[in-house]
Amino acid sequence: MRRRRFLRTVGAATAGLSAVGTASADSHASGRESYRPGGPWPGDEHAQPMDGFHTNEQLTQVLRRLDAQSERLSLREIGRSAGLNDPIWEATVGNGATSVHLITQIHGDEAVGTEVAVKLLRELAQSNSRQVETILDELTLTVVPRVNPDGAMFEYDVDDDGTDEWVGRRTNTQAWSSDDSRYEPYYHYRSPADAPPGYDMNRDFNVLPPEEFDAGDTTEDQWYVSDDGEGYLDLEYEGYTLASSGLRLAPEVRAVTRSYLDADPDYAITHHHQGQYLVPDSGDGNKPPKQTELSVMPAYGPAYRDRSPFDDPSAPVEQVVDPFIDEATSTESIQMNALVANALAERGDSVFDSVTRYGYYPLWGSYLDTVCPTTGAAGMLYETSYQTDVRGQQALGRMMQSTVVGFTTTLAAIAENTLGDVNVEDYFDLPLHGEYLTNPHQSGR
Ligand SMILES: [Zn+2]
Repeated sequence: MRRRRFLRTVGAATAGLSAVGTASADSHASGRESYRPGGPWPGDEHAQPMDGFHTNEQLTQVLRRLDAQSERLSLREIGRSAGLNDPIWEATVGNGATSVHLITQIHGDEAVGTEVAVKLLRELAQSNSRQVETILDELTLTVVPRVNPDGAMFEYDVDDDGTDEWVGRRTNTQAWSSDDSRYEPYYHYRSPADAPPGYDMNRDFNVLPPEEFDAGDTTEDQWYVSDDGEGYLDLEYEGYTLASSGLRLAPEVRAVTRSYLDADPDYAITHHHQGQYLVPDSGDGNKPPKQTELSVMPAYGPAYRDRSPFDDPSAPVEQVVDPFIDEATSTESIQMNALVANALAERGDSVFDSVTRYGYYPLWGSYLDTVCPTTGAAGMLYETSYQTDVRGQQALGRMMQSTVVGFTTTLAAIAENTLGDVNVEDYFDLPLHGEYLTNPHQSGR
């Protein structure tokens, strides 16, 4: 219990979530009093429009079309989703020596990264701009757009009218069975009770290679079990205790792991959404505070432990930073994040000049912390504000724009070898994301 105290304090075990309408799924939010702007505050009694997003079928169509039309892009099916048995696609472009791996929508209600990935792949497959040529010459980019087809297409009768609406949700669709592992992992959700259960797949990754870890083959002393029966696997690895390690039970996670190891990347990017937050100290008597459009998060190691917003000198290092990331890689990771914030701020005092920092600590079942260090990749995680089950496609163009700038600027800087010019302090100068905005229409969930 003692070693878990720190993680519990900062909220590492993501709060339980309902299938629909939980805004703060990725957040470290506390229940502070909130300033409440006028909106958008859709209620939880009706579904939000989703038709701005590709369905799984449409995504397959557009990727197959790009593959057929362009010599530059190659497409392969790397797996199938657990519930719908829909394909998980991997698209690769470029022939460069530097490998970049990008995944989107591992949480099904976080759809914007996928939309931007499609746009990016189209441009890289078809454009002859100088920037695209440089990227294709220098990089090999492997993209898994939509890791979670089940969550992306999740339907549920939100308004209780007897018909399911397309709302999306965080988890995949997969039941846990006692044959799968000694205990039911904490990241398997059964809510709401009348919907099929599923995994939060960004807690399902495991640091060991596939041939060295079998979820059905753990011992009793590796587990902590909470009073309500949730199992937490504590994996001993290279002298560290990786608390709440993933079991790699989702076929989607196994597919992404294979894709990742095949790509053997130098850089890794994962796109998410978060709840909604204010930018600290952004308002004054004359104008209201800004909302954060995007938060960024690097993974870093012990060299930057003293910069961690959650450092606790008594906590083991693996609960504060990622001990498997060396100083040079940590620095690059931080530079990748600062680069994106700087690029958005360069546009002047706009809605995009609102990037905040998402406070970092490792999650031992996440893509960023668990898999990326195995190839020495510098990594970054985006958090576009608003889950799509809260806002649907509202403000889609705006949500996409910050990510377009982020992906494009990052790939260009890696290809042009200019990442090293970014000042690390620009990252630490970013404010940690501010006050959480509670949706008054969802207070009961
Ligand atoms: Zn997420």
